Amino acid sequence: MNTRPPFHSGLMWFRRDLRAHDNAALSHALRSCGRVYCVFVFDRDILDPLPAQDRRVGFIHASVLELDAELRRLSGQAQAGLIVRHARASAAIPELAEALGVEVVFANEDYEPDALTRDAKVRGALAARGVALHLYKDQVIFGPSEIRTQQGRPYAVFTPYKQAWLRSLTPQHLQPHEVAAHAAALAPRPDVAMGEVPSLAAIGFEPSAPEVARLAPGASGGRRLFEDFRARMARYDRTRDFPAIKGPSYLSVHLRFGTVSVRELAAAAHAAAQGEDGAGAATWLGELIWREFYFQILASHPQVVTHSFKPEFDAITWEHGARADAAFAAWCEGRTGYPLVDAAMRQLKQTGYMHNRLRMVAASFLIKDLGIDWRRGERYFALALNDYDLAANNGGWQWCASSGCDAQPWFRIFNPVAQSEKFDPEGRFIRRYVPELAELPPKLIHAPWTARAVDLAAAGVRLGETYPAPLVMHDEARRRTLERYAVVRKNENPR
Ligand code: FAD
Repeated sequence: MNTRPPFHSGLMWFRRDLRAHDNAALSHALRSCGRVYCVFVFDRDILDPLPAQDRRVGFIHASVLELDAELRRLSGQAQAGLIVRHARASAAIPELAEALGVEVVFANEDYEPDALTRDAKVRGALAARGVALHLYKDQVIFGPSEIRTQQGRPYAVFTPYKQAWLRSLTPQHLQPHEVAAHAAALAPRPDVAMGEVPSLAAIGFEPSAPEVARLAPGASGGRRLFEDFRARMARYDRTRDFPAIKGPSYLSVHLRFGTVSVRELAAAAHAAAQGEDGAGAATWLGELIWREFYFQILASHPQVVTHSFKPEFDAITWEHGARADAAFAAWCEGRTGYPLVDAAMRQLKQTGYMHNRLRMVAASFLIKDLGIDWRRGERYFALALNDYDLAANNGGWQWCASSGCDAQPWFRIFNPVAQSEKFDPEGRFIRRYVPELAELPPKLIHAPWTARAVDLAAAGVRLGETYPAPLVMHDEARRRTLERYAVVRKNENPR
């Protein structure tokens, strides 16, 4: 029997879900409407404050072009692609919905505070025009309020959250949301001009084509990276901590912009984790669960955006003034004199990516060696990371500052030299990003200031000239940090 869909027409609004396969909102739209228009807005509220050289906008731009082509391919009609706008989404979506005469706008949920505010505004403006907004869970397996303690509260400790997450998982949660089979409902754009994707320059950004190409944008790039990683997943638990080794998946930017489906990734990891040699896959699945853990922390404690998760940590006095500013600038530019920290910060600047182990080392160095407020580092990462995600970034920084939920204890302070010796023992990663130290032997590369003058000269290193002397001595900095953090002990709540 041929049943008529409940709605005559709908509008699918793509945001951080730039793919035309296994997409919850798109699948629902196609199954419940006779005609579905698709739109992407280069949102001026998000883009206008950004600097003109932003790789992420290049990544989004390339991914939007690919999505547009894929929608046309699926529908079999040259006219049925994306409608693209460069405007304020909160106004553009209601206006477009009205102009197209649709009954419903479909989109996937976004849990960041600014996105929630935007969506509430759009919902109101649509309602005033008699149009509904239907939102779907898509970027997570479990939404921020789905996994709760027995008392119905959000979890503040990761391991029990992870156990509850795994206990709650059913095959249904990993089922893909079918798109291709319903693609006939994709509607042609009413006007050809609506589909023109503006150039990067037209929306105020400089093209960064080679760098973006290296990021492998779009669903095709995400698929390639995942296929490459699948072959390495079993070894993930043994390789993930060594930045010179191709250990992690490098999929974070794709998870950020939805050019991969988290269901597909989690399903593959979950299946592999059950098999022989499943430890690598189980560890990797655990990382996808950390991502959702931090989404629920941000959603249930939105004050973490500006405050410590544990309020007693807001009593800490951080370094400030000209010296702290100079130290902060040296950290950003990768000239602290600690080779692994500098290599990490240069990797971030050059590529927009930083290995997870190095994010911990670099963040810990800023906070606990330089005594600088974690919020300054967090803001720098927010601008520089291709995969910047408010929940994960804030969670990572507060973990390193010890102010977060389930964080590193405050008296545990990474030794940047010991981290370097352990996780980059041959100095291979350091040599890649700090070439001025390339000739130093492995024994000396982690702490060049301890080398004899003759060895430095043999490697062509002149401390303070070709490479900086260390900004601080770690033992001294460690002592100051323990004093700085003593205020926490005084205010600590016995929990
Ligand atoms: P893989 O090791 O392959 O992990 C797979 C996926 O799991 C990642 O892509 C990511 O989506 C998720 N994931 C892994 N580790 C974490 C984690 N600790 N917390 C939350 N999700 C995780 N991750 C971001 O996606 N965006 C950020 O802005 C971000 N900022 C961070 C800041 C600091 C100070 C720290 C310590 C960590 C931060 N992380 C962030 C987490 C982690 O470093 C990155 O997700 C990871 O390095 C991305 O590389 P990958 O895709 O190769 O990861």
